[in-house]
Amino acid sequence: MRKPKIHLSPPHMCGRELHYIKEAFDTNWVAPVGPNIEAFEKEMARHVGINDAVAVNSGTAALHLALSVLNVGKGDIVFCSTLTFVASANPILYQGAEPVFIDSEPDTWNMSPLALRKALHLASLEGRMPKAVIVVNLYGQSAKMDELLLICNYYGVPIIEDAAESLGSSYKGKASGTLGAFGVYSFNGNKIITTSGGGMLVSNNIASLKTARFLATQARDPEPYYQHHAMGYNYRMSNLLAGVGRIQLQQLEKRVDAKRLIYRNYFDALGDIEGISFMPELDNTKSNRWLTALTIDERQLGVTVGQILTALQQENIEARHVWKPMHLQPLFKGTRYYPHKENTHIAEQLFVRGICLPSGSNLSENDQQRVIQCIKELLERKRKRQLFILGKYEVMGE
Ligand SMILES: *Cc1c(COP(=O)(O)O)cnc(C)c1O
Repeated sequence: MRKPKIHLSPPHMCGRELHYIKEAFDTNWVAPVGPNIEAFEKEMARHVGINDAVAVNSGTAALHLALSVLNVGKGDIVFCSTLTFVASANPILYQGAEPVFIDSEPDTWNMSPLALRKALHLASLEGRMPKAVIVVNLYGQSAKMDELLLICNYYGVPIIEDAAESLGSSYKGKASGTLGAFGVYSFNGNKIITTSGGGMLVSNNIASLKTARFLATQARDPEPYYQHHAMGYNYRMSNLLAGVGRIQLQQLEKRVDAKRLIYRNYFDALGDIEGISFMPELDNTKSNRWLTALTIDERQLGVTVGQILTALQQENIEARHVWKPMHLQPLFKGTRYYPHKENTHIAEQLFVRGICLPSGSNLSENDQQRVIQCIKELLERKRKRQLFILGKYEVMGE
């Protein structure tokens, strides 16, 4: 019989979410307007320590609104981390703008300040500056925000923080997602807290968020009839789901603790093995460890990333490659890209060597042991085969 499936990062409900759903039913606020939406926005803004928040139906929509508010359009360029999920970059295309991808650096796996400086310097020489820089905080780890902000502020280019994976993380005491001009969170089913699908755009610029809210509700003018002077979107979050989000937000700290503990257990079990390195956590930052990610040295370990993923899959365990960089995607063929250093392509290395392990905040200790055992047994099998082959050689050589 097949063992039960272990998912990468499944939804984790506490049960009380139903209360707010029921209340929405009872009061008949079953629409993309209602009291839960406003309450969720206020609670979210308070939680991360920012002036305002706009609840929308996905993180992708929040990113798209940020670009719209910044007037990104045809002929514009936008810089974006290359090591990310495609949702970080797609909204650039929605606006008819052109992405330019920036490599990672090894300490955080996130945007390289070196590569960004070079890209902005060349852009200024060419007289074609980006309208925005989308900085991703991968797997919960904050990018080197001070360095990135210093460079961007020098050139007067706003940062949009894609904090879809880093809600609950912090950078030098500040909540991840609150350091740029805009921050974006996601409540997709796999994220650290979820509304099944949803997102949030946050900023200290209340006027900008007012525009974002306007655009997210079909850009309807304040008239007694339906009048529009701008093109809008249907991007608001449902009042039902905002109720789920409110309860989920109350669980956030617990979820962060659980995910950090899962990371710790993996690290304790596998961290000593030569050829395995875990994703680092930068000093003065706290990662929510949304996913525990590691890289392997295939030669040292004697197994490939593919072999590990296959072994886990055979045990009905879902693990994944690290994101395939955007500049390697067929969708973005021919797009400009700036490496960390000449001949040093960090994101490509992380993609080739990286693995994300099951990291659900509801992952049981037993299930985590199944993952660890599966990897250890694979390594042991390989090691024995290696010894066997070497032994044979010795015999033959005698
Ligand atoms: C999940 C994710 C998004 C998109 O969020 P959705 O809510 O699924 O639209 C954007 N960027 C990153 C890095 C993500 O992981």
